Amino acid sequence: MSSSSTTNSKDFSGKVVLITGSSGGIGAALSRHFARSGAQVVVNGRNGQNVGKVASDCNSLSPKKLKALQVVADVTIDDDCRRLVDTVICRLGRIDILVNNAGAGAFGSIYDPKLMQTYDHMMKLDVRSVVLITQLVVPHLERTKGVIVNISSSLSVKPNVHFMPYCLAKCAIDMFTKCMALELGPKGIRCNSVNPTAVRTNFQSATGAGDILVGVLKQLEETNPLRRIATVDDVVNAVAFLASGESGFVTGTALMVDGASIWV
Ligand code: NDP
Repeated sequence: MSSSSTTNSKDFSGKVVLITGSSGGIGAALSRHFARSGAQVVVNGRNGQNVGKVASDCNSLSPKKLKALQVVADVTIDDDCRRLVDTVICRLGRIDILVNNAGAGAFGSIYDPKLMQTYDHMMKLDVRSVVLITQLVVPHLERTKGVIVNISSSLSVKPNVHFMPYCLAKCAIDMFTKCMALELGPKGIRCNSVNPTAVRTNFQSATGAGDILVGVLKQLEETNPLRRIATVDDVVNAVAFLASGESGFVTGTALMVDGASIWV
């Protein structure tokens, strides 16, 4: 039986949660949720100042005043990934929940002269790092019968000509999730993905798209069947469900958090 079966989505007491890319955006909101719910949280990102700020939020939210572990590491660097996982094990001794969240989007169509550079970057950040970190963490999840949640995107199944390399990368994450569910199920480890539509975070400006995406978000808000775009809390709630025992028989699933939007 998975150790996650002892938790509900608002009580993660006794669990160690590693969330990559948790110094901002969705990852930071996840850190705060898990900290508030009693977990020992690991905050990661490249920017030490932002990692420190989120860790400090987590410290104040933690009911038992647990101190969030801060690990500044770039997940596109193999040695950093190893140091990240080694530090967690050395300092906290276990990992119960892995959320592969670090990632970014990028513009790229077949006519883009820099397409292959964008493609390589997307594959390295959004796919390769997830595979490597998962490989490093699995032996520890075997001990705790833990859980993996990958942050994919609704663009994994909805083609978008402007974000083609990102669509490919997130499509790969969905298949990786299903392969992991098959291989790790017999070890008591579940693996699912959460696939959000657009959420307002630093993601939009990190693509270098400037104001273009501001207009796209507005249009999305007006056309989504629910007449709004997703919030970080929508994503957090989906992750918390999949990380908890409430989803004890759910594995290999891509949970769309997209309000039934048909185009993003
Ligand atoms: P943000 O840009 O707001 O946050 C990204 C986080 O990842 C930051 O904490 C950033 O910190 C960290 N990060 C980026 N690159 C690296 C790296 N190489 N190594 C370690 N950490 C890194 O984006 P979101 O929170 O919106 O995105 C989180 C996930 O959600 C991504 O996987 C994204 O693809 C996915 N997603 C986002 C959507 C959206 O519209 N926002 C929609 C669908 C999916 P730092 O800069 O300090 O490294």
